[in-house]
Amino acid sequence: MPVGPLMIKFLVMGTLLLGSLALLMNIMPTGRQNLRSRRVLGIIKNPIAMVATIDDGGDEKVRKTEEEWKKVLTEEQYQVTRCSATERPFMGKYWDHHEDGTYTCVGCGQELFSSDTKYDSKSGWPSYYKPVDNAAVSEIKDISYGRVRTEIVCSNCEAHLGHVFPDGPQPTGRRFCINSASLDFVKDD
Ligand SMILES: [Zn+2]
Repeated sequence: MPVGPLMIKFLVMGTLLLGSLALLMNIMPTGRQNLRSRRVLGIIKNPIAMVATIDDGGDEKVRKTEEEWKKVLTEEQYQVTRCSATERPFMGKYWDHHEDGTYTCVGCGQELFSSDTKYDSKSGWPSYYKPVDNAAVSEIKDISYGRVRTEIVCSNCEAHLGHVFPDGPQPTGRRFCINSASLDFVKDD
């Protein structure tokens, strides 16, 4: 009977098609709410490098529950890094800070920005023209408040850091506009 093998063939093709569609739908969506699903797939968006890295499960990314984050962060740090709040300009700890050193993630300690790339953007937020390493931050399309912006998060713990804009100085022409509350500072020796 040729019907049996034919049915199996259709079933296999149907499953493959559905699988491909599901994969596409997981890769395509944008926005912070989808970061977790991309992570589940092992696809981490890093448009600076324009590469998708395969998460082999052997990484040591920082993961905490909301309750655990609340215990280790101040209320302001929690609101900014875990709820994507924006601190008021000219009020944060580092917008007018000029010591030599490295700015690290307040959530996990990962090195994010060097004082060498910090500049006065007149915005009232600490601003840098590039991260210490492209892999230190992930970029996510942010469509909140009816605007299309690019959100910056720590690639290690997914802390919201701020946004990046295309109006920075050379050599990159980019402005990483970061909340002081998402940063710690380690002074050079
Ligand atoms: Zn972090």
